[in-house]
Amino acid sequence: MTENSFPVTRTDAEWRAMLTPEQYQVMRGHGTERPGSCTLLHEKRAGAFACAGCGQPLFVANRKFESGTGWPSFDTPLEGATEETVDRSHGMVRTEVHCSQCGSHLGHVFPDGPPPSGLRYCINGVALNFEPE
Ligand SMILES: [Zn+2]
Repeated sequence: MTENSFPVTRTDAEWRAMLTPEQYQVMRGHGTERPGSCTLLHEKRAGAFACAGCGQPLFVANRKFESGTGWPSFDTPLEGATEETVDRSHGMVRTEVHCSQCGSHLGHVFPDGPPPSGLRYCINGVALNFEPE
């Protein structure tokens, strides 16, 4: 991933200043939050989930579903809001999902979601800010 190819770019110092240590570890260090740790897991109001790194809306609330994994899960992102790369870390081949505007790591997408998309976007809640309608 080339850090400078995104519309929103920040220096490492800027990221550290604007994000909490946990957000930084997840979003800039490709970390994963502890399952069940994020209050957004149980957020059920109408609204949008925006990137905590740049504010771009990524998912709308009616695309969220209960996956039972402990991470906020969505079946479809907003068009153009996310990009994907192949992640071969931890001895697995997974599809990594990041924000198309600032490149911050969000989570992974798996092909075992509900119809019609059949996709499960497994997203770290700390990477999202919920904006109720
Ligand atoms: Zn972003």
